[in-house]
Amino acid sequence: MLEIKYVPTICPYCGVGCGINLVVRNGKIIGVEPYKRHPVNEGKVCPKGNFGYEFINREDRLKTPLIKENGEFREASWDEALDLVASKLKEVSSDDPNKIGFYACARSPNENIYITQKLARVACGTQNVDHCARICHGPTVAGLATTFGSGAMTNGFDSIKESDYIFCIGTNSMEAHPLFARKIIQARKKGAKVVVADPRFTPTAKIADEYVEFKTGTDVALINAMIKVIIDNNLQDKEFIEKRTRGYEELKKCTQKYTLEMASEITGIKEEVIKHLAIEYASADKAAIVYSLGITEHSHGADNVMSTANLAMLTGNIGREGTGVNPLRGQNNVQGACDMGALPTDYVGYRKVQDEKTTQWFNDYYSGYGYEVNLPAEPGLTLVEMMNAAHDGDLKVLYIHGEDPVLSDADIKHTKEALNNLEMLIVQECFLTDTAQCADVVLPAAGWGEQEGTFTNGERRVQCLHKAQEPPGDAWIDWKIMEEIAVRMGVPRPLFHYDSAEEIFDEIRQCAPIMAGMNRERLDTPEALHWPCLSEDDPCKPLMYEDSFKTPDGLGVFQVIEHTGPVETPDDEYPLILTTTRVLFHYHAAMTRRCETLSNEVKTGFIEINTKDAAERGIINNEVVRAFSRRGEIAVPARITDDIKPGIVNIPMHFAECAANVLTNSDSFDPKSKMVELKACAIQIEKFEDDFDIKKDIYNNGTDISIEAEDISTTTVRKEVI
Ligand code: SF4
Repeated sequence: MLEIKYVPTICPYCGVGCGINLVVRNGKIIGVEPYKRHPVNEGKVCPKGNFGYEFINREDRLKTPLIKENGEFREASWDEALDLVASKLKEVSSDDPNKIGFYACARSPNENIYITQKLARVACGTQNVDHCARICHGPTVAGLATTFGSGAMTNGFDSIKESDYIFCIGTNSMEAHPLFARKIIQARKKGAKVVVADPRFTPTAKIADEYVEFKTGTDVALINAMIKVIIDNNLQDKEFIEKRTRGYEELKKCTQKYTLEMASEITGIKEEVIKHLAIEYASADKAAIVYSLGITEHSHGADNVMSTANLAMLTGNIGREGTGVNPLRGQNNVQGACDMGALPTDYVGYRKVQDEKTTQWFNDYYSGYGYEVNLPAEPGLTLVEMMNAAHDGDLKVLYIHGEDPVLSDADIKHTKEALNNLEMLIVQECFLTDTAQCADVVLPAAGWGEQEGTFTNGERRVQCLHKAQEPPGDAWIDWKIMEEIAVRMGVPRPLFHYDSAEEIFDEIRQCAPIMAGMNRERLDTPEALHWPCLSEDDPCKPLMYEDSFKTPDGLGVFQVIEHTGPVETPDDEYPLILTTTRVLFHYHAAMTRRCETLSNEVKTGFIEINTKDAAERGIINNEVVRAFSRRGEIAVPARITDDIKPGIVNIPMHFAECAANVLTNSDSFDPKSKMVELKACAIQIEKFEDDFDIKKDIYNNGTDISIEAEDISTTTVRKEVI
C-alpha cells in the first residue's frame, strides 16, 4: 500500500534555519515541500533547501563500522569497533587526557553535540573539544562576548525588515544565506537603503543600492575611519554612549589617526565614499550591520567583529528593532554547537571553564555511582591547536564527529600530515569523506531526517527536528554511539543513559540557564523559542540588549582596535590575494555534491580572476590554470570576470579536486579567537605549458570526478530566491 506523509523539520544547510516538510513515501524521504507557515522562510526555500535532501538515500551511505588494517578498511561489528575505540580512549585518557581531542559536528542536532562534549569531558576528562565555528564564527563568539557580553546575533532575522539602512560587510547572503537575503530585499522594497562593502561584486552587491569595493582584510581601517568621521561631525549618540557604554574616550583617541587619506590608502576606497558611508550610517534612524565570513575568517577576525560593535554602539544602533550587529552563522547548527559547549573554554550555555566554581558545579553534576569527574578549570585546545598538536606528535587520538577538516581546514597538506601522525583517528560520519578516508575507525551514523532533536539557527531560535526515515543498514544515532563508548570506558550507565533526544534536552536545560524555560511543549511549534529563555513564562524575545548588555556591569565595552591587515601580503613571487567563498548550490561538499540536482548546477570549482590579471597572464575563460602558494598548488578552471578587483582572486571552497585550502595559510591565526587566515593568502596563477593530460591529472587530484571546464555553469541567483 502506498503511504505518503509530510514530516516537518528544519533545512540542514545554512544558519538561517528554514522550515521544510520532508515528503516520505513508504518510509523513504523522496522530496521536500516548504513549510508555508514557518516564520523564517514563509514557504520559500533556496535550491539547497529544495534539492539538498537527495544525498540522504545515496548508495554510498556508510552502513557498517569500518576498521583500517594494513591501510585498507574492512567491515567490523559494532561490538568490535566500539571496544576498540573505548579501549584506546581509556588507555590514553588514563595516561594523559590532554592527548585526546574531539571535533563536534555543527551539522548535527544539539543533543548529539551536547553528548560529544560530554564524552570528551566526562568519559575522557579533557577540555579539548571544539568545532568548526573556530574557523568560521569563532571571532564572532570572542568579539561580541568582549563588547556586548554574549557572542551571538543581537537581533532576530525579521528585525532587518524594520531597518532604514543596512550595511552588509563581508557577506554574500544572496548565495550563502539566501532566505535572509530575501528579508533584505523586502526591507529595500519598504525603503531601506542597502549598502554592500566587499572585495567582490557579489550577487548580494548586485541587489544593493550602493556597492563599495575594497581590499581584502582592511575592514578595521575602514570602520575606524568611519568612526572618526562620525565623531568629527558630531553624529555620535551621546546619550547612548554615556548611559550604556564605557571606553569611548580611548576609542576616540585611537581612531583619530585614521584620517580619510590614510584609510583610503589602506582600503582602496575613495575618501569621499568613506565619508559619505559614515555620515549615512550615523544619520539613519535604524541602521543594521550584517556580516559573515568576510569579516571573521582573518588572522584579525575578532578585531573586525569588535570594530562593527564599536560602530553600532557609537551610533546607538543596538537594542532596538531594525538595528544591531547581525552575524550570519554558517552551518545549520553552528550556533547550537557553540551553545552546547563544544568549545574548549565554555560548557553548555556559555558557562566558563576558567571559573573554578562553574567547573566544580559540572564536576559535581556529572559525578555519581562511585564515578568521579575531575575536570581542570583550564581551557582545552582549540580545533587549530589540536591539529597542530597532532602534527607535532602531542595529540594521540582525535575523535571527529561529522566534520571534514581535510577539505575545510586551511593548508590541506598540513592537515593530512597531522591526521596521519595520530595513533588513532576515529571518524563518526554518514559518508566516507576525505577525512573519513584517513581514519583508523569509521563509525556509521544516522543522518539528518533520521533522528529527532533540535537545531539552533543564527537568530538563536531553537527548532525541533523530526525523524522521517530509519538510518540505512547498521548506522546508529550519534548519541547512542557515544553513550555506548562512554559506558564501555567505565562511566556508570545511569550517568550516561538516555531513551530519547528529549531526555538529553532536559539535561541541557538543567545545565544551561539561558535555555531553562525551553520545555518541549513550547519548543515544538513553528515559532519555536529564542534564547535567552530563562523560565517557562519568559517570552524569549529575539531582540537582545534593550536595556543593558550581558557584561558584568551591563555596559557595552568599546574596544581599541588597530588595523593590522592580512599576514601574507602580495609580493613579486605571489602577487595575488586569494579569498575563498561559497556558491549558492553547495554547502561544503559531503552532502550537496551528493545531490544530483545541485551538483549539476555547479559541477566543479573555478578561480575568479579579474580581466586585467588574466590578460597579463594570457589566460582565457575556462582554461585550466595552475594556482600556487607557499603551501601547495592546484589546477583549476579560470573564470574571467570584472566582478572581482584586480589583484584579488577567488575560489569556492567546496571542491576537493581543486581545493582552495591546498593554498590557504594555517600558520597565522587570530590570537583572540584562534581563527586561521582563510580569507587572505598570497598566491600566483600561471598558464600550464604542459599538455592537457598532465593538467587533467593534477586537476582530478586522484578523485574519480572528471569534469571538463565547459561544464562550469554560471547562475542567476536572483531568479532562484525572490
Ligand atoms: Fe536551507 Fe539556508 Fe536555503 Fe533556508 S536559506 S533553504 S536554511 S540553505
